[in-house]
Amino acid sequence: MTDRDGVLAGKVAMVTGSGRGIGLAIAQALTAAGARVYAHDRRVEDRQALTAPLRDRFLAADLAADEEIRGLANAFAAHEPRLDVLVNNAAVQMPQPLTVLSVEDLERTWRVNARAAVELTQYLLPQLGAASTASVINVTSIHETVPYAGNLAYCMAKAALSMFSRVAALELAPLGIRVNSLAPGAIETETNRDVLDAVGRERFKEWIPAGRTGHVEEVAAAALYLASPASSYVTGSTLTVDGGYSQHLVRYRLGH
Ligand code: NAD
Repeated sequence: MTDRDGVLAGKVAMVTGSGRGIGLAIAQALTAAGARVYAHDRRVEDRQALTAPLRDRFLAADLAADEEIRGLANAFAAHEPRLDVLVNNAAVQMPQPLTVLSVEDLERTWRVNARAAVELTQYLLPQLGAASTASVINVTSIHETVPYAGNLAYCMAKAALSMFSRVAALELAPLGIRVNSLAPGAIETETNRDVLDAVGRERFKEWIPAGRTGHVEEVAAAALYLASPASSYVTGSTLTVDGGYSQHLVRYRLGH
């Protein structure tokens, strides 16, 4: 038993893109803390990767399609009158520099990574407002502020998502709804394992002050903090979980 057990007892949560990776770890952490968690992913088949109880409360929707986002909100509302924690985690990444970036990939990245979070939060406002206090967590990235050459669409969408958190925090504070961004650095997941392999883990050890890439559980622990009453006075913030990576621009030391 840890002091986190039961901190979300009786609370209801939804985590988008929780069929795998960081989203799955967040859904598991919120479940372990006592919340009734609704998992989500793009396809109905994504449910197969889950175990109970997440498997039993799984909702499928393609967040690139407006009508499916509306359907997701309606499906949730059919089960629950109240939502205490919404984690907008789902995202795509199709790295391309400006020279070759297609308008279709720019649009898809924008839709899934930024626009869908705005729409879903808006559609679920009645349920979020019905909670005595609610927490919306937008999973951004250190690339909400740190430019990444060759990954223009992703960086732009994450910057927009971060600003969504900040504006929504102001607008929704009177309703008792907090809105924050959670910005991971280089975290080991299926989606970026190829990049970490190709670039070389030794180089990440040098670039990241903590000396290693991060684990999904370390991001989930930060999400649990933002979801819980421990962060009751935190809104409009970005919680960066990156082992110091985004601060490490100056890589030389003078003297000793
Ligand atoms: P991932 O690709 O493993 O997970 C993303 C999830 O989103 C998947 O389950 C995927 O199916 C879902 N998704 C994608 N498109 C969708 C769509 N159209 N409709 C519905 N669901 C869709 O990635 P991850 O590494 O676990 O990343 C999770 C979040 O963390 C993302 O927002 C990502 O940008 C962010 N992030 C990750 C890292 C990292 O190093 N892994 C770093 C910074 C930020």
